[in-house]
Order: sequence, then C-alpha cells, then structure tokens
Amino acid sequence: MSPSETPSRRHIVRGTVVTMNADRDIIATGGVLVSGSQIEAVGPYAQLKSTHPDATTSGDPHDLVTPGYINTHQHLTGDRLVQSSIPDGLAPGESIFSWAVPVHAEHQPEDDQLSATLTLVESLANGITTTVEAGTVAHPHRVAAAAETVGARITLGTWGWDVEEGPFAAPAAEVIRRQEAVLDRDHGSLVTPWVTLVGHDLMSDELVVAASKLARERQTGLTFHMSPSTTDTEQYLARTGRRPIEQLAHLGVLGPEVLIAHGVHLSDSEVDLVLESRTAVASCPWAYLRLGQGVSKEFRHLELWQRGGRLGLGCDAENAGDAVDPLRTAALFAGLAKDVPVDPTGFGAHDAFELATIRGAEAIGADHLVGSLEVGKQADIVVHDRTGTEWYPHADDVVLQLLWGSDGRSVREVYVAGDRVIADRRPTRVDLERLGVEAQAARSALLRRSGIDPQPRWPAY
Ligand SMILES: [Zn+2]
Repeated sequence: MSPSETPSRRHIVRGTVVTMNADRDIIATGGVLVSGSQIEAVGPYAQLKSTHPDATTSGDPHDLVTPGYINTHQHLTGDRLVQSSIPDGLAPGESIFSWAVPVHAEHQPEDDQLSATLTLVESLANGITTTVEAGTVAHPHRVAAAAETVGARITLGTWGWDVEEGPFAAPAAEVIRRQEAVLDRDHGSLVTPWVTLVGHDLMSDELVVAASKLARERQTGLTFHMSPSTTDTEQYLARTGRRPIEQLAHLGVLGPEVLIAHGVHLSDSEVDLVLESRTAVASCPWAYLRLGQGVSKEFRHLELWQRGGRLGLGCDAENAGDAVDPLRTAALFAGLAKDVPVDPTGFGAHDAFELATIRGAEAIGADHLVGSLEVGKQADIVVHDRTGTEWYPHADDVVLQLLWGSDGRSVREVYVAGDRVIADRRPTRVDLERLGVEAQAARSALLRRSGIDPQPRWPAY
C-alpha cells in the first residue's frame, strides 16, 4: 500500500507489537487489526491475516508497533512561534515578563491555530497521539480546529487566571464563564474539553474552588501548574500560612480528576496529600533542567511513582524543554530516577515507557480509550522503523533499545482513531512546506507586535 492510500476499513498494522496490556505482552511478527477507529484484534500476524483475509496490511515484519504516546502537559500556543528563542541565561522573572507575557498578549486567533498546528504535527511525527493542553489558550476553538485538521487527540480549556493584569486575565466569575463556554461547545471527536487554570499563585481560592466544582459537575479533568520551583511554596506560605498542596487540600480541590503540572518541590505532607487524594502529576523533566528548577535535588516524582501515584510525562513548552519528543523525555526521566537516588536498580526503561503510554493514560483518566493496544480501544498506533543505524544490531529487548537507543526519529507511521496521520514520516493532512513558510512569517510579525528584538549573542556569564 502506498503512503497516500487510505487504509481499507479493516487494516492490519504489522510488526513486533508492544501491547502494554496488563501482562505487558510483546508479540513478535504480530499485528494490530484496526476496524474503523478501533482495535478489533491483536495477535500473531499470520493468525490475523487468516481470519481476516480481506484486510489490507501495512508495515514490515521488522517494524516495532507501540501504543500512541501520551503527553500530559504541553502548551499548544505561546512558545511555539518563538520556539527556542528565549535566551538560556535569563532569570525566571525576566523570561516571563520580557518574553512570555508580551508574546502571549499579542497572539491573534490565527497565531493560536498555527502554533497548535505546528506543535501537534511535531507531536504526531514523534509518536504523541494524545496531548493535554497546559491551559494558556486564548482562542480554544482555533486550537480545536488545529487538532481536528492534523488528526491529533487533545484535551483543551482556555486561559484561566484572575490576576489583576496579564494576557486574558479576568475576574473569577468571568474565567469560569469562559471555561463553561469551552465545555459547552462540540469541538469534534478528538477534542475533550477540560477546565484549565494557569495555577501557581495566579489563581484566587475562589477561582480554584469554582473550577473544581465545574470539573466535577461536568465529569471532566482539571489541570493547573504548581511548584516547579520553590516560588509557589514561598508565595502560598506568605498568603495562606500553608504550602500550596496543603492549601488546595484545605480548599477540597484535590482529587482524581485533577492533574497538577510539575509538583517538583513538595514536602512530605504534600506528597502524602497528592497520593491520598489520587491527584495526578505531570512530570516535565526537560523543562526543569532547561530552566534550572532543581529537579535533580528534589525528585519527588520518583517517590510518587514508588508509592503507586498517578504520574504522566510532559514536554511542556518550546522554550522549556523545547523538543516535543516523548521518548527523549521518558529516557531523561529514567536517567534521573537512577541518578538522583544513586541507584540503578529501582527504575528503568520499561517503567519510563509505561509512563509514556498506559500510566500516562491512567493519569489523565483516559486509559479506557488509549495507552495500550487492546481490543476495543481507540486505534492510536505508532510504527517505529527499525532500519535506521541506531537499531542495528537489533537487541532482544525492544523496549530497552527504543528507550535508550532511539527516540522520535524512528517513528515512520502514526494512526489516530484508525486514521493514518503520519505516513513515511510526513503529516498526511497538512502541507509541511507551506506550514514552515507561514510559521516564519508569523514569528516575525509576532515579535514585531510584541516589541521584542531578539539579539542572538554568545552569553557572558
Ligand atoms: Zn506549563
């Protein structure tokens, strides 16, 4: 079958299948039978082909077939059009107020759509099929349109903060009204509306309580940022006398529908509160390293994992981690989990791979749909090409080799809900060359409107 051909209704994706089912079965010379948007069967290829001789087949027996990866924290707007542009050596306040705030403030609806399109195309090309938007979207319907166009599964809310000044800030009641508007709208089958706040100490108690109530009423997720550095702890202690997670527990907003982005700097009691409430945490290790936030000293995510907490991985933003590559992120997490405790025996590639797939799906309450290759789940499938030099000679443990030896560069085909959205490493639904030209023009215009004149220089520390 040529890359441009649409698979027939029944289609077998062939290769060594890493199922991520409860037994973690890996099927050599296996296949995944896709019927419409769902997985109809998983098993040995010969068996699938004999029971479904009418099904078309794609892939090579040497291919590695995995579930689509889950990115539990990603900004789809803001940073993308100025990706890898915020200089490395800026203090946190300076990077926020001289870059992030003015750039976000100047986002027009078309910038949101273009930015999300770029990020989601890169995501898909690296095997991410489900993305949790981080909560800084001014024009959600344009981001939803981007997701539907490129064929990516996302959760989506809108800017939610009730600070006095800042892009798209508003009083708590107005913020909630905007969140309700996102929840009320049908964005298509790939977009699940969530309630999203900026978080940190940039939400009043009134706002986070109302957001929690809304998420529970609508039976959807709530996400916000907290404690990537020690700043939130200092501000919460000054304002409330409690640490951030203690204050959120006091307000009654922790719970299984909540996904906290970061939670790097947590006290023992905060770790207990997260675990007891079954609150999920998104760990974005590249961002913490890139921004110098102290994860190598305070790696509480490992303890959350050891104690059975709900944990996923995130790639965060294109000026905080930059590359949107789940395997690069998973390998880094595994490395930290070995190095910080100075113990290589407690966590490894397979554990990190779980975080990027089934455990990430569990963390966002989507494991009934995605995260593994099992009958009845959505056909969100990644095909890794094992003919690249990094794969030779083939190792016996495919997950170990994938995690430590490769990354998004080996992704050749990606399916979301049975649709092939990446074929031969290229997006099937957007013109990459035209997208690049549009992005370049939008970047220049955005910087001009923001009053930023980037002056690349070799930093003198
Ligand atoms: Zn973030």
